[in-house]
Parts: sequence; structure tokens; C-alpha cells
Amino acid sequence: MEQSKKIASIDVNIVPAVEAPATNVAEFEAIDWRTVFLDDHHNCPLCGGELLLTNVTHFVDQKVREDAFCEGCNIRTRQSEHELQ
Ligand SMILES: [Zn+2]
Repeated sequence: MEQSKKIASIDVNIVPAVEAPATNVAEFEAIDWRTVFLDDHHNCPLCGGELLLTNVTHFVDQKVREDAFCEGCNIRTRQSEHELQ
């Protein structure tokens, strides 16, 4: 019989959603989507911790790059680039 061997473990914090999922149209329309969007934008999808957001402007390229980093999970969760206006 083969013996199993533990080579790694992952600790995950399960956080409740801002709003419970809608089960009908009335519940769907009652959800505060602005709050849901802001919660997704500012918090890590894995641990729920607050993301560290950095914006770097490249004037030569006329672009701004935004990075979202979770210090708790030690991962970059988002990177986006926008044109300067
Ligand atoms: Zn995290």
C-alpha cells in the first residue's frame, strides 16, 4: 500500500459576501451594486484583505499603470493600464 505524503498546505480565510446571492428579480434589484463593485475593487478575492493599490504614470507613453497587491497572500491580483487624458 502506498503511503501519502503531505508536501504543502494552503490556509484560506473564507469571508462572507457583501450581499447574499439573489434568488429572484426583486432581491437582484435590491442589491447595492456600487458597494459590491467597490468591495471587489479594494479587497483580495482570496482572503478578503485590503489590497495595496499603486499607480505609476508614464508621461512619455501617456499611460497610467495600476497594480493591486495583497500583502497577506503575497500576490498581485490585478494590473491594468489606462491612457492619460
Ligand atoms: Zn489576499
